Amino acid sequence: MSEDLVVVKVGGSDGIDLDALCDDVAQLVSAGSRLVLVHGGSAETNRVSRLLGHPPRFVTSPSGHQSRFTDRATLEIFEMVYCGKVNKGLVERLQAGGVNAVGLSGIDGRLLEGRRKSSVRVVDDGRVRVLHGDHTGVVERVNTALLSLLLDAGYLPVLTPPAISYEGVALNVDGDRAAAAVAGSLGARELLLLSNVPGLLSDFPDEATLVRTIDRDELDGAMSYAGGRMKKKLLGAREALDGGVRRVVLGDARSARPVSRALAGEGTLIA
Ligand code: ADP
Repeated sequence: MSEDLVVVKVGGSDGIDLDALCDDVAQLVSAGSRLVLVHGGSAETNRVSRLLGHPPRFVTSPSGHQSRFTDRATLEIFEMVYCGKVNKGLVERLQAGGVNAVGLSGIDGRLLEGRRKSSVRVVDDGRVRVLHGDHTGVVERVNTALLSLLLDAGYLPVLTPPAISYEGVALNVDGDRAAAAVAGSLGARELLLLSNVPGLLSDFPDEATLVRTIDRDELDGAMSYAGGRMKKKLLGAREALDGGVRRVVLGDARSARPVSRALAGEGTLIA
């Protein structure tokens, strides 16, 4: 459907240079590229949560997987940061660079829809407990009609979690996997997952151990050297490839021209 489209997801970790990202996007768009931007905001959300006296609560599942427990208050802080400060900050920078960007969350127009998982099993002091009231989920459906409307009219969509449940409740969803769902649904050519590392490192945090290419059949093996958050990126990469995206690049967003460099294959290339 959109053979020339590229979905760029930029993370929310410390060290990411959003000015450099927006300058690069502005140049690419003025040269004719068709892009959709998806972003995170985790580090800033943690800071604001602490400032507001509601520090983040990370829980561990019985299988050892760590995640953020998103009660209602956390969800509202998440929205302030992701939909407010980060989303509007990106749209403002892009507008200053001459790009007609439109910022939307997954709730708007049911852009990112999914199933809510309202309770989680966690390990607490060696015992398994069930926590209720979680606002998390996984994106299952993307409103491609709304995105195509914007793209065809020349706007650059800047998308952010939360998503929305089928019942209409906001959901904290993983940004990398949401970007993969957007890329697959739109029939994008490429998905770029940009973060504060050069790509997948076989011996994290030694940047000299960058894995340059991963064949899609080798993704399971690569999972073994990915730590918690990196695992989500590999999972997103697999979902995007399964959805028909031709290649996924895990790239570095800490310095100049991060999108162009990833498009040139700098980082970890998965195909
Ligand atoms: P973002 O919010 O920018 O999307 P994440 O924090 O979700 O980024 O994921 C990137 C992080 O994954 C890195 O900052 C690093 O701490 C962590 N990580 C764990 N294992 C690895 C690995 N093998 N290679 C690279 N990064 C890794």
